[in-house]
Parts: sequence; C-alpha cells; structure tokens
Amino acid sequence: MSKHVPERMCVACRRRRPKGELLRLLLTTAGVEIDPTGKKPGRGAYVCKDSPECWEEKKLRRFAKGQAKALSEALRAFFA
Ligand SMILES: [Zn+2]
Repeated sequence: MSKHVPERMCVACRRRRPKGELLRLLLTTAGVEIDPTGKKPGRGAYVCKDSPECWEEKKLRRFAKGQAKALSEALRAFFA
C-alpha cells in the first residue's frame, strides 16, 4: 500500500516536489507573506526550502511582480 504524498510546485523553479520540501507563501490583499505553519487560510503558493536560488528576486518576479524584492529579502531573512 503506498502512501499518497501531496505535491506542490515551486513558484521560482517550477519543479513539483513533496509539500514538506516547500515553504508556503500566503497571498493576501496586502501582499505576500511567509506561512511557516502552512495552515493559514487563503490562497497559497510554494517555494523550495533548500534552494537559495529560488529565493532570488529575479526568480520570484514572475510570481510576485513588484513585490519580488521584498519577498526575496523576507525569504533570506527567514532562512538565515
Ligand atoms: Zn524551487
């Protein structure tokens, strides 16, 4: 019997990975925030936990647009 592992896609590198290897981001009307618990209600997006290149502003731009820089800084601070 195999256990189903939910997968999500990283917004930066677009790889599909098990949810546990990704950090959840929460999309709010105020912007993008980090949701380490993965449990806040609302629309979520995901980024790799173990891949610093996925926290680069240019990789986040497609997803976060004008907030890419702020999100990049928040991710670096979070993982520091
Ligand atoms: Zn990634």
